[in-house]
Amino acid sequence: MSILDDVVINAKSAAEAVGRKAGQLVDVSKLRISAAEINAEIAKRYEVLGQYVYECSRSTLSADPEAAGQMTEIDELKAQQAAIAKELGDKQNKVFCPVCGKQSPTSATFCSACGAKLMPDPEPVPQEAGPDDAREAAEADGPDVQNSDIPPRQFP
Ligand SMILES: [Zn+2]
Repeated sequence: MSILDDVVINAKSAAEAVGRKAGQLVDVSKLRISAAEINAEIAKRYEVLGQYVYECSRSTLSADPEAAGQMTEIDELKAQQAAIAKELGDKQNKVFCPVCGKQSPTSATFCSACGAKLMPDPEPVPQEAGPDDAREAAEADGPDVQNSDIPPRQFP
């Protein structure tokens, strides 16, 4: 057995000893929390990256059927989101920022929170289902529902 083999074996048993000790000390639930936190962080990074790609590479991505399908889904959800936000705004005499979701008076031209241009009366998106369903659902809730503290739905 060479000197190198000895070194490797010693390092290995040292690492195993450390691993055993850590295993005794670290609570399993803490590991689970760490794993969940890392998973959430990964999901967040994917989301940011996905949004960036969606906004920057639409023309390139639309050539890919899978990507095009996902983008169509997002576009439809965004149309629903805009319809719901407009409906909420109409009920409250407020306009919702399409970027950050903050409310502003209908007289405002720009969002007071993020400075995005506000569209008090966005073009209705022609669509069979989505917005109409959302509008009917909103009307079904009745006028006495308190919507003021409910932010626009964030689609993950
Ligand atoms: Zn804003």
